[in-house]
Amino acid sequence: MRVNWRSIKWAKNSYAALYAACEQSGILLHETNKPADDITCYSLNSIDEPHYRDEIADAGCITIVGGPHASACPHEVATYADYVVVGEGEFTLPALIRSIGDGCGHVPPGVCSGDVCRPSTSQVFLPAYRPFTRVKGTIEISRGCPYHCAYCQTPCLFGNRMRHRTIEGIVEAAEHYRDVRFVTPNALAYGSDGTHPRLDRVEALLRALKGHRIFFGTFPSEVRPEWITDESLDLITSYASNRKLHFGAQSGSDRVLRLLKRGHTTGDVMHAVDLCHDHGIIPVVDYIFGFPFETDEDQNASIEQIREVARYGKIHAHYFTPLPGTPLAGTTPRDVLPEVQNILGNLALRGKATGSWIEAEIRFFSRNENQYP
Ligand code: SF4
Repeated sequence: MRVNWRSIKWAKNSYAALYAACEQSGILLHETNKPADDITCYSLNSIDEPHYRDEIADAGCITIVGGPHASACPHEVATYADYVVVGEGEFTLPALIRSIGDGCGHVPPGVCSGDVCRPSTSQVFLPAYRPFTRVKGTIEISRGCPYHCAYCQTPCLFGNRMRHRTIEGIVEAAEHYRDVRFVTPNALAYGSDGTHPRLDRVEALLRALKGHRIFFGTFPSEVRPEWITDESLDLITSYASNRKLHFGAQSGSDRVLRLLKRGHTTGDVMHAVDLCHDHGIIPVVDYIFGFPFETDEDQNASIEQIREVARYGKIHAHYFTPLPGTPLAGTTPRDVLPEVQNILGNLALRGKATGSWIEAEIRFFSRNENQYP
């Protein structure tokens, strides 16, 4: 039985992780540009999904779909895919492929197929799986998030309990790279329950990676603003090579932050910016515009804060996307005020702002790359 993995730009890390997990079970996932052979697997986010729906529905092989979108809307995806993996795939995908190979018709836990939907019965024990093997990916050090930000799919996909890879496992993966970057919802939460910092464990990790150029709290991960302290910044400046730190503010309005259940205030953001400045670190701060309940005053409050942040740092701005599976699913984004667009545009011209604050999809793909079928 030949099993394929549909090559999709934004799913490269999922391919790396699931290649390793399947290989551990004696299954090879061959990369392909179209559905073929016996089984083809897909990982889709909600922006990609409309572009692959017809291809999956028309495929002449068994199709398995997972990823953030499939996990958020398994019943919808099961109308055109043969199997839907809900949540984490390391254990479920090999179990499903084995079950298909056996021809027993058994639908494993964590899989939907047709009208049958079996809830998952376990969470992945992260240290039991390597983050990648032959197919290289980024090093995922932690998974799961105890916060409940209303726009975010991460808790829906990975749950609210934070789990961590061991330092030994991270060091082993890092041997494949000179520069090491990490995937985690909050780099400073390494080793913790996600709400109470364990900087001793962060330091042990960073110390164990000495000899590498470490990028900690920068793309593709970030940190939360209230976790930025003199102590955590001392660790970053002592062990890491980055002199930028990426964190999310999301709004300059405390009313919006409360409605989003972000769990921090605008004051926490400005305190973090000041601390970064004191430690010689450039803050790179995320904002989202277009929340359905955002008033003109809220957008102006964000712009006021952005002007302050831009004095020392940089802005990364997005337009809100109501993702399935989140509390804001199905809501309608509001427009960004023309004056807000102008100010962000001017900041972009000065090299102070990046992102896409008018059209959400632009940040996920460039039409020139022609990545969709
Ligand atoms: S936005 Fe970050 S902190 Fe909030 S739920 Fe998502 S991963 Fe967690």
